[in-house]
Amino acid sequence: VWDVLVVGGGPAGVTAALRARELGASVALVERGRLGGTCTNDGCVPTRVWAKAARLLRDAAQFAEYGILGPEPRLDFPTLRQRTHETVLRIHEKKQIRRHLEEAEITVFENAGDAHFVDERTLQIENGKTLSAEKIILCGGGHARGLSFPGSDLTIAPTQLWSLEALPRSAVVVGASATGCQIASILNTFGVTVSLLEMEERVLPREDATLSAGLTEAFALRGTSVLTGIGPIERIERFGEEENVAQLRVHFSQGDHPASLSAEAVIVATGWTGSVEGLNLSAAHVIAEKGYIRVDDSLRTSAPHIFAAGDITGRMLLVQSAYEEGRIAAENAVCGTERQDTHRIVPHGGFTDPEYGSVGITEADADRSDAVSAVVPYADLDRAVIDGRTEGFCKLIVSRSTHRLLGAHVVGEQALEVVQVIAAGMEAEMTVDHLADLELAYPTFTGILGLAARQICREMGLVRQARDRVGLEHPRATEWEHRAGTATST
Ligand SMILES: Cc1cc2nc3c(=O)[nH]c(=O)nc-3n(C[C@H](O)[C@H](O)[C@H](O)COP(=O)(O)OP(=O)(O)OC[C@H]3O[C@@H](n4cnc5c(N)ncnc54)[C@H](O)[C@@H]3O)c2cc1C
Repeated sequence: VWDVLVVGGGPAGVTAALRARELGASVALVERGRLGGTCTNDGCVPTRVWAKAARLLRDAAQFAEYGILGPEPRLDFPTLRQRTHETVLRIHEKKQIRRHLEEAEITVFENAGDAHFVDERTLQIENGKTLSAEKIILCGGGHARGLSFPGSDLTIAPTQLWSLEALPRSAVVVGASATGCQIASILNTFGVTVSLLEMEERVLPREDATLSAGLTEAFALRGTSVLTGIGPIERIERFGEEENVAQLRVHFSQGDHPASLSAEAVIVATGWTGSVEGLNLSAAHVIAEKGYIRVDDSLRTSAPHIFAAGDITGRMLLVQSAYEEGRIAAENAVCGTERQDTHRIVPHGGFTDPEYGSVGITEADADRSDAVSAVVPYADLDRAVIDGRTEGFCKLIVSRSTHRLLGAHVVGEQALEVVQVIAAGMEAEMTVDHLADLELAYPTFTGILGLAARQICREMGLVRQARDRVGLEHPRATEWEHRAGTATST
């Protein structure tokens, strides 16, 4: 009998096991397949490799502008496939997850098949062995929420892309959340004709509306057709073959009208659901709702000695949140504490073209009477002009009463890196005038935060004026990186 048994060897499970061991507990970890989880094996790492390839193609498209001449590079898909698999292996070699766990004296059961409860303190694995523990942390992650309609077996899940033999010439991507948008954007850069379908009224429906609008505009400029507000997919049929490749037709409705699109591949990125099916949760009195394990902010399930962390809780579906939840679940399980995680500050985004990044509250969620925001176009940044990447903007939101940073939403080059700075500022309770005075390196993309902060300071009357000028007129922008008449505030 161990003190703690962790189910799942992805970011949440590995972190939970290591933290529980660090706190002195005896720990076992069971993984049904290969350690590393969706993150390493078929999610973030392969996506990022493809995003890097797309990035290189975009950079190559600028070569001639900077006087670098030569034949136009093109994508060799078999080489990218190999690079993707090699990178996953390299990450495994670097992480040495099993050795790392075993060196911490954690007992590891890898390739153990689905662990399932036989009673509230015991799980059984494929070879019939039973594992018992005082506390259990469920970190089984999730899987693509497949849709069920005639022809749904002809679709591809995002996690299956890395095993494709060849790149399709055309693709319909269903679902315009983070994964769908990234895949659509990357495939478009690879030269695939892409249509992106979304049932909600806008792409990235949970992000700030300006971010959705910015990305939709960028997609349109690059020839990706975006259809939002569609009805459910009704059926997919094969209607022929071209050069030995099946041609598919996707049927759906738009408004009251039937609509259809043809493509060689249909990629369904319509959501994620917790891997709860194989666990036999009822034997442990653990409640799952809408496909995810129900937890409170201490990550405790409906059974007081059982915790859950990561995607299986359905709270954030992000790696950084999975390992933070893993740490917290371990501390609460081992120490009996009630440390809570409400995911208030979680910078996130996507490697689309251009990137987008977000942290904190959206403008729609902000208290209108208190929030003040500025939107600064990337075209104002000297660095954006130097790099030939002037597309995009940075929206910064702050509180009028406390002057604290509330959120940032960025579309543009290095957007994810830019919002991380705001995340650090929010955690440190930084105020907008402090951000405005920060001597951010020049010329950088992060410098846009200084422009946005100083614009808000001017709006809020936080800019010091000569005594006889106070209240006379709106202060002028004192900006080295100036471009007249572009920035807006609300
Ligand atoms: C295409 C794609 C791209 C993504 N890109 C990003 C990104 O760029 N950034 C980001 O933050 N997030 C990204 N994500 C999300 C990220 O992968 C997940 O949030 C993260 O992996 C969650 O970690 P986890 O430990 O909760 O689950 P997982 O990583 O899924 O690990 C769960 C593990 O539990 C095992 N398991 C499940 N059930 C059992 C059982 N009954 N018994 C034993 N073992 C079991 C599974 O085999 C798996 O190894 C992406 C996801 C996808 C699909």
